[in-house]
Amino acid sequence: MAANPVFLRLNKAHYPVTVLGYGRRIGIWFQGCSIRCKGCVSQDTWEEAAGAWMRVADLLAWCRQKEGVDGVTISGGEPFDQPRALNALLDGIRRWKRRGNPDLDVFCYSGYPLKTLQARHGALLKKLDVLVPEPYVDALPQGGCWRGSANQPLLPLSPLGRARYGDRDGSPSPKEKTLQVSMEDGQIWMIGIPARGDMAALEDLCAQRGLHLQAVSWRR
Ligand code: SF4
Repeated sequence: MAANPVFLRLNKAHYPVTVLGYGRRIGIWFQGCSIRCKGCVSQDTWEEAAGAWMRVADLLAWCRQKEGVDGVTISGGEPFDQPRALNALLDGIRRWKRRGNPDLDVFCYSGYPLKTLQARHGALLKKLDVLVPEPYVDALPQGGCWRGSANQPLLPLSPLGRARYGDRDGSPSPKEKTLQVSMEDGQIWMIGIPARGDMAALEDLCAQRGLHLQAVSWRR
């Protein structure tokens, strides 16, 4: 008998993403975050009821259609708030790797402390190449280009993760933070980790040109 399908509450999936890890990546943003850090720029991902349910198998099929993929970045929202879906997604990516794509790396963000993840989700951590844990703390200095605040370490967890990210903490200077823009369904999506003040500066520049942003993700 076939197993019941696993569903994931999805905010967004995008390819290519070039600002959240090594190379050209698939980006998958989970919907729903119970952590709710002050200063989070992705507040559109907080509500569990927003986003859309998607079968993990369908999301994986969409991933496998892409060409030239170096890795998958999983963010949110909080991926570990949906551990069953995250596990199914990671297992599917591992199967995809085994079928001729051994150099795909899986890079995952979480706002949970590392100790909490190790205690509750050790089996999931073993399926990642890179993890950036810990909540975003607006009062601390900002992190490197792939990290929001300085308390968030970039942890390679596999030989591939260490080879790609280990020798430079994966994080060139915060000055190298880059944002990527995509337009879909009448919305502007900013992808990446902004430097402090970038979103306010962007809003000011748009306003100077007569474009007034509404319903932005960095403010409620
Ligand atoms: S920074 Fe991440 S963990 Fe923190 S509230 Fe935003 S989505 Fe949630």
